Amino acid sequence: MKIYNSLTQRVEEFVPNEPGKVSMYTCGPTVYHFAHIGNLRTYIMEDVLEKTLRYADYDVKRVMNITDVGHLSSDADTGEDKMIKGAKREHKTVMEIAKFYTDAFFSDMAKLNIKMPDVVEPATNCIDEFIKMISALLEKGFAYKAGENIYFDTSKLKSYYVFGNQSEEELMVGVRDDVTEDTNKKNKNDFVLWFTKSKFEDQALKWDSPWGVGYPGWHIECSCISMKHLGEKMDIHCGGVDNMFPHHTNEIAQSESFLGHRWCNYWFHVHHLNDQTGKMSKSKGEFLTVSLLEKKGYNPVAYRLFCLQSHYRKPLMFSFEALDQAEGTYKKLINRIASVKAEGSTDEAALKEWKNKFVEAVGNDINTSMGITLLYDVLKSDLNGATKRAIIADYDKVLSLDLIKAADASAPADEHANDDPELVAYVEGKIAERKAAKKEKNFELADAIRAELLEKGIVIEDTREGVKWKKA
Ligand code: AMP
Ligand code: ZN
Repeated sequence: MKIYNSLTQRVEEFVPNEPGKVSMYTCGPTVYHFAHIGNLRTYIMEDVLEKTLRYADYDVKRVMNITDVGHLSSDADTGEDKMIKGAKREHKTVMEIAKFYTDAFFSDMAKLNIKMPDVVEPATNCIDEFIKMISALLEKGFAYKAGENIYFDTSKLKSYYVFGNQSEEELMVGVRDDVTEDTNKKNKNDFVLWFTKSKFEDQALKWDSPWGVGYPGWHIECSCISMKHLGEKMDIHCGGVDNMFPHHTNEIAQSESFLGHRWCNYWFHVHHLNDQTGKMSKSKGEFLTVSLLEKKGYNPVAYRLFCLQSHYRKPLMFSFEALDQAEGTYKKLINRIASVKAEGSTDEAALKEWKNKFVEAVGNDINTSMGITLLYDVLKSDLNGATKRAIIADYDKVLSLDLIKAADASAPADEHANDDPELVAYVEGKIAERKAAKKEKNFELADAIRAELLEKGIVIEDTREGVKWKKA
């Protein structure tokens, strides 16, 4: 398999630390509001990455955190606390908000056929681990106390900007400019590991620590939660592109300073879903959610297809017209699959051959649109029905578009169940004869069969789903 690595800015052959095994970490949602469909684009593409690895026979362990404390609205260490903001908005406690939006997120995941990661851990579960790592960073001289908070000292690093050649200016895009600079910091990029003297008087969740009662900064949770479950070396770390700076940059800074060695080898970043007004964001007032799509009558799986039609490393423009198109494509695809009867026995050699094609195509930096193209190739091929269905079901382990389930549900009920079985057998036989005649380009015979049926009061019709018949 090949994946693009944001660290080297190249598509690389994927080589895990341990042969056959993959440890994978996903930055989870900040649960102060519903996820918007932009966030969910990122989780859909990460889900495809995980499933492609599994499809290629890797034994994957995937961990995701839930940010229920510490994420500040500037995405740096200044600005409003997102969880407090959510609690105030809804007159609820921070924990009530966290529980409600965590459940809402899981429900969105299920609707989009996103697999639950093997481990899902809320930040508030791991305060002890955070304290241990922060203590070690202080001991090693990578952190300092100022204004009663603990900060990471970025001047102690050989290199801080690890994600290629992006300029500082580019990296700062998306960081709000109306936030006041924290004067406790020794260096501009230093970030908070632990707050005790908070500007958030109303911070509800506080814990005892060697530095006083307080709460963690945002970045520490991903370093600690990933190490807790995946150990000191990890294969792939995922997130949206906006996570690259400062979040992932800071995760690497503190993790590698703590460990004293390289931490994660591959960094997978999904580009943004934009709408006409620009990047989709939760702080922009009304935003698009899965429930809103459902209310408007869309099948959430059509949104998944919409995402799979584009490459994850390109920004994707959302519009309802584009979603309509994806839904149209989905319906046509399902109808085509529904017309494939499970005839013959599965050709195991072909199944293997087509599986290899899929790994080759989608395994090339998660090229999902190539995976969809392969589906059509299977449908167009002259494989028997049972084999086609087996390959499609197999591809759907990665694509997760409910292909067989939706096709079977859409297949028309047996329209002739109440007709005379002898008549049904006769007509079906004639239809098969006519199909064979057409295949041999004997159109005269085909027409003669149609006329013969008409004489007996049977009208046949060629449709996209095959030949239909009724009594005239
Ligand atoms: P958050 O809940 O804000 O922490 O974001 C959850 C995930 O969604 C993170 O991986 C973000 O990088 C990602 N994300 C945020 N905005 C977008 C967007 N417009 N398109 C795609 N992914 C996004
Ligand atoms: Zn993270």
